[in-house]
Amino acid sequence: MYRSHTCGELRATHTNTEVTLSGWVQGVRDKGFMVYVDLRDRYGITQLYFDEEQTAKDILEKSQKLGREFVIQVKGKVQERASKNPNIPTGEIEVLVSELVILNGSKTPPFTIEDKTDGGDDLRMKYRYLDIRRNPVKESLIFRHKVAQAVRNYLSNEGFIEVETPYLIKSTPEGARDFVVPSRMNEGQFYALPQSPQTFKQLLMVGGMDKYFQIVKCFRDEDLRADRQPEFTQIDCEMAFVEQEDILNTFEGLTRHLLKEINGVEVDKFPRMLYDDAMRLYGNDKPDIRFGMEFGELNAVAQHKDFNVFNSAELVVGIAVPGGNTYTRKEIDKLIDWVKRPQVGALGMVYCRCNDDGTYKSSVDKFYNQDDLAKWAEVTGAKAGDLICVLSGETNKVRAQLSALRMELAERLGLRKPDEFAPLWVMDFPLLEWDEDTERYHAMHHPFTSPKPGQLELLDAKPGEVKANAYDLVLNGNEIGGGSIRIHDKATQAIMLKHLGFSEEEARAQFGFLMDAFEYGAPPHGGIAFGLDRLVAILGGQETIRDFIAFPKNNSGRDVMIDAPAPIDDEQLTELSLKLNLKS
Ligand code: ASP
Repeated sequence: MYRSHTCGELRATHTNTEVTLSGWVQGVRDKGFMVYVDLRDRYGITQLYFDEEQTAKDILEKSQKLGREFVIQVKGKVQERASKNPNIPTGEIEVLVSELVILNGSKTPPFTIEDKTDGGDDLRMKYRYLDIRRNPVKESLIFRHKVAQAVRNYLSNEGFIEVETPYLIKSTPEGARDFVVPSRMNEGQFYALPQSPQTFKQLLMVGGMDKYFQIVKCFRDEDLRADRQPEFTQIDCEMAFVEQEDILNTFEGLTRHLLKEINGVEVDKFPRMLYDDAMRLYGNDKPDIRFGMEFGELNAVAQHKDFNVFNSAELVVGIAVPGGNTYTRKEIDKLIDWVKRPQVGALGMVYCRCNDDGTYKSSVDKFYNQDDLAKWAEVTGAKAGDLICVLSGETNKVRAQLSALRMELAERLGLRKPDEFAPLWVMDFPLLEWDEDTERYHAMHHPFTSPKPGQLELLDAKPGEVKANAYDLVLNGNEIGGGSIRIHDKATQAIMLKHLGFSEEEARAQFGFLMDAFEYGAPPHGGIAFGLDRLVAILGGQETIRDFIAFPKNNSGRDVMIDAPAPIDDEQLTELSLKLNLKS
């Protein structure tokens, strides 16, 4: 038996008990005639004690040779400590060691296994198994487990069945690039890894499973923007015989359950916002509504003066920064530089100070008098002491730019509090989205999303205006889930695929199996998928998902620990009937 107790378990009530412990050496304090060792495992740290008078000589000597991260087993008697440590749960006791076995030695670890480590990111990822021994990472993984467990409990209680779907499939339509896997047995043919189990969960509905969920890996070969992973985990869900309202209620229930269970937070009914309103008020389809700073559109009050920059703009829009009038000229200049950075891309920024005495001072005083500026304040909701920041230009671009500024300012003002939770539904997304690169419409959600009732006819005349039966769940400025009511008849699906530029043959080749299934009594159905990694990070009060993933990839999609991806040898290539044609 390696241990009778864990390293986090012993208390003063165990005094005089004979115990066996196993774990890692966190540190050794050698005072010559007595030695203290901190022994660590997942559950905590227990102090081991050796001294000249009570410990056999060979054991005392052995203890003096222990190094950091050695794996040891000890037997001994629990005793009260002379000086207690109130900071750790085992701080009242120590174990007076009578037997010591070194189960395994350890090289000196490349970074300290402490909460605040001296190891940089790359080093920690290369030795992730050591990183996982550190409390912050360990706690994050345990936290993730708790969230996943709470999800499973809730959904099982609601009658959902967890069904596994295959990983070796063919292209799924979430709009990213596929990861492909060559098939040895089918020369020249490839599987694609699922971008999501979308088509399978719909087939499970045709199969009568009624309520499905799965905590499942999804794979998307996208350029890795900050904090994305090429493989990530979804809580994937689908329900039959449901309308949008049923889905919203069910998954609002799940989210509320998680917030209560995990964070002890009760939230009211989630507000619902139309996509168009989210874009108009926040410039963003995933608004952070923990704070205000809503957009005020200023065209009516700022155009038709002599300021050509505004006159020629499609949209003039501003926000009121609470207390922003305290910013110095230099600070405002810095803000202007910030919006002009290529990542944001604004050409400039007009501002207006709202003075405490009720007067205004703007950077465009030449063109606007006090009455004009008072209207700006009214539209943006600015009060005395605030600063109005105004951007102008092409609607979509300007909205994105001002949204970036809003988030940045809120961050600086401390308005994005990690322990505050403000969920909302964003609804009625456009069905199609114009893609500048390929110059055609793409499904904004995916091709199986149904248009709002009565809008199918609009598809020919005004494809960009058709709204979808699609919804996103947004939490604190992040999309944590998204889904839709699906098309469940072959004719509508065919029309949709035609509009997405699929010829009949292409549609047949790629999605024939689904279209066929729709001919065998497909029930009305719909669903949603949550991004588990991000959800866990947000519930954990963090912005980055990496620490909640045991073995994450870096920004180039590499696993630096196992050094993947990696070349394969010629023999394997031949077996797969592959020949390389490398660009470099
Ligand atoms: N499959 C979709 C996605 O991954 C979610 C859904 O429509 O249920 O975004």
